[in-house]
Amino acid sequence: MLDILRRLIQEVNLANNLEQALNIIVKRVKHVIKVDVCSVFLINDDDKEYVLMATDGLNPNAVGKVRMSEGVGLVSLVGKRAEAINIADAIKNPRYQHFPEVSEESFHGFLGVPIIQHRKVLGVLVVQSRAIQKFSEDDETFLITVAAQLAAAIVHAEASGGISGLKQRKEKKKNEIKPINGLPGAPGVAMGTAVVMYPPADIDAIPDRHITKIKKEIKRFDLAVDAVAKDITELSERLKDVLPEEDRALFDVYLLMLNSQAISGITRERIKEGNWAPGALRQTIQEHEKVFLEMEDSYLRERADDVRDLGRRILMHLQNESQDKINFPENTVLIGEDISASMLAEVPSDKLIGVISVRGSRTSHVAILARAMSISAVMGATDLPVGRVDGLTIIADGYSGRVFVSPSKKIIAEFQNLIDEEAALSDDLMELRDLPAKTEDGIEISLLVNSGLLSDITPSLQSGAEGIGLYRTEFPFMERQTFPSEEEQRSIYRQVLESFHPRPVTLRTLDVGGDKALPYFPIEEDNPFLGWRGIRITLDHPEIFLVQVRAMIRASIDLDNLKILLPMISDIGELNEALGLIHQVYGELLEEGEKVVMPEIGVMIEVPSAVYQAGNLARRVDFLSIGTNDLTQYLLAVDRNNPRVASLYDALHPAVIRAILQVVESARVHNKPVSVCGEMAGDPVAALLLLAMDIDSLSMSVSSLPRVKWVIRNTTRERARQILSEVLLLEEASSIRKYLNQTFEDAGMGGLVRAGN
Ligand code: PEP
Ligand code: MG
Repeated sequence: MLDILRRLIQEVNLANNLEQALNIIVKRVKHVIKVDVCSVFLINDDDKEYVLMATDGLNPNAVGKVRMSEGVGLVSLVGKRAEAINIADAIKNPRYQHFPEVSEESFHGFLGVPIIQHRKVLGVLVVQSRAIQKFSEDDETFLITVAAQLAAAIVHAEASGGISGLKQRKEKKKNEIKPINGLPGAPGVAMGTAVVMYPPADIDAIPDRHITKIKKEIKRFDLAVDAVAKDITELSERLKDVLPEEDRALFDVYLLMLNSQAISGITRERIKEGNWAPGALRQTIQEHEKVFLEMEDSYLRERADDVRDLGRRILMHLQNESQDKINFPENTVLIGEDISASMLAEVPSDKLIGVISVRGSRTSHVAILARAMSISAVMGATDLPVGRVDGLTIIADGYSGRVFVSPSKKIIAEFQNLIDEEAALSDDLMELRDLPAKTEDGIEISLLVNSGLLSDITPSLQSGAEGIGLYRTEFPFMERQTFPSEEEQRSIYRQVLESFHPRPVTLRTLDVGGDKALPYFPIEEDNPFLGWRGIRITLDHPEIFLVQVRAMIRASIDLDNLKILLPMISDIGELNEALGLIHQVYGELLEEGEKVVMPEIGVMIEVPSAVYQAGNLARRVDFLSIGTNDLTQYLLAVDRNNPRVASLYDALHPAVIRAILQVVESARVHNKPVSVCGEMAGDPVAALLLLAMDIDSLSMSVSSLPRVKWVIRNTTRERARQILSEVLLLEEASSIRKYLNQTFEDAGMGGLVRAGN
């Protein structure tokens, strides 16, 4: 059964549009459970009607025509109850609704199961039989399993269908395309041209791309095919002594397949039709894979893997000389399955206005980088058909997380208004640049920036920040082929310290692991966020830690504006060890005759154990800095990068708020200042609460700074404290956010938390 299910899902995932996907489902399910009818009904969101979208067994002409409003018919009852309904004789059921156009008079047995995704009923999968009979438990569990697995595939196909598929064509009533929902990643609205970037040799991630130089593209493809043929022949030669002749025959099959009309020939045809070689190749490989997957014989079915392998090999050769040749248009919106920091860096910064990633969420490092670069970002856009959007006009609304593909003129005009309003708001906010972040009742709070790239130093300086509250040193480590030398590091840190002098700069020691990998220091773990990360790595490798701390302290000679911050401390022993190493470096530098000054040392509070030991930690150091990104992740047990659980991730959760209050209280006992450097600090509504909690400084992405300053300057601490006391009565993050957003709207500050005035 598992095998059948796996094949079915693979096939559905390969479908080109919703219509094809649904037809595969009904055909296969009908065949597998040997029923007389299988149909899919989907809810039409506009009219809340269940529409027959595909059937094998009922009158095919009824597709798109049979519609049931909520409360009518058995299908809608399945949807309403969100559970399976299994009835021996549906016709006798009082809820039964007769539709003359479907000719279903002779079907009695009825089993309907809901298709649900993210708690929302999308539709109903139905099987029917001529016989008066209840379906077996096995049939029921199979159908439930199919429906659960297919929901995501249907949403995906529907999203592509939204652009070119059935639902769009059948429901011409409204030709406005629905937005695709992702997660807010970085504020702002980006309207521009989609440029899809894909990881090397990932066939499914390749987009279609229109080309005009056909001959050149065919030549490029032929060269890649020749190169693969050469690789295969060499591989076969190399294995001569280890593999018997008959096993090496596989390579001959590969060569035959490679040069066949079915693979090379058809791909060439597709290039002639104007698709670029990688896109044409993807279509061919997927088509073949589908044919093999449909075969009953398991040996032949496995040949699908060979086809894919061949495709991957050709693609690798094509990519060797193509990926870096993307011609980035003005207003590029970068799109990909999993956009990485290095992909972002490949786009010239004057062309890049936004990013959309299928994976990740607000606290993924790409989103953090996007905020540092002041471009908008939508993360976790799981339903975006990445392969089909390259070159299209696209809107990424980084406030709400919505994406519009090929928007209508009306939508474009609406968003252009929002973009204009936003630009005007930014101009107003920039006027605050040189004014202090002081409340109306005279309380001042330091606003600092988070940084990690040399390129964001200039905007940070221009933003009017009072210093750098968090410099993520891992970014310069990520851009290299090996660990940077002490001198390389010193020179980078020196530039940062110098540009901000005399303002303070907090350099954090290396925080890799989790979702931040170094290409030259791979870490393979099942549970990376609970594994070897941050200070745990650097204490295990004191040679890396000592060099980094030496570089930091030497970089600050004669400037003396350095603070050092230690990430991921979860235990007092770790802090003691790290302090020991820092003092060792300091002593050695003094011995060497360097004019060094001992910097202030701080600890990041980002795991629950550190919250409960904040007092013990504060006693040993000069300051605490709360990393709310990780603190939220670890307190709520919600992966900060996983879009599936992103709705559970909110730094405004009562548990996070109470943890911060506890840290502040513990630090006060030892008279130590507390800052917040997670993304929460840059969220205008959260900043108001942090002000009320007596946090000393807030460190945030440069793009968030003007908004937060505006909030601080337009409130009093008294007012903020009243709001905090209301918030402390609320029990859920969603009600806290709703309450704060409403408070902002009532105060005429809604423009700070959403697009438009
Ligand atoms: C945090 O965890 O809040 C933080 C600031 O560190 P990072 O986002 O780099 O993990
Ligand atoms: Mg962190």
